[in-house]
Amino acid sequence: MDCIFCRIVQGTIPSRKIYEDEHVLAFHDIQPLAPVHALIIPKKHIPTMNDAGPEDWALIGEVHRAAQLVARELGVEGTGYRLINNCGADGGQVVFHIHYHLLGGGKLGPLNAREMQ
Ligand code: AMP
Ligand code: ZN
Repeated sequence: MDCIFCRIVQGTIPSRKIYEDEHVLAFHDIQPLAPVHALIIPKKHIPTMNDAGPEDWALIGEVHRAAQLVARELGVEGTGYRLINNCGADGGQVVFHIHYHLLGGGKLGPLNAREMQ
């Protein structure tokens, strides 16, 4: 399977790691959209949020737990941040391996659901 994030998990594509445990990996986004832009992923290949099954919810919880640690590690715990999962075409998902963007380090604009292209 040719998945860029699976390759990052396997170490065949390099990444700037922030956090790693048995089930979760966090690394800096290669094209940051904010002063702090991390990606937090389950090591298991799950293409989209639609594909997460009952057996995966504990793992998704682990991803959130890791996001909390990453926010602390990157110094945005107190100032705040945004955690985003893009799902599917309209959600703007480009890499089909579940991931959460953690954005912070500055005041973000309001989330605007009507912001369509
Ligand atoms: P999405 O649009 O939610 O699928 O976001 C995919 C994200 O992955 C984008 O923000 C990319 O900049 C990021 N990305 C793609 N390739 C890499 C990579 N090799 N290392 C780090 N981040 C990456
Ligand atoms: Zn994958």
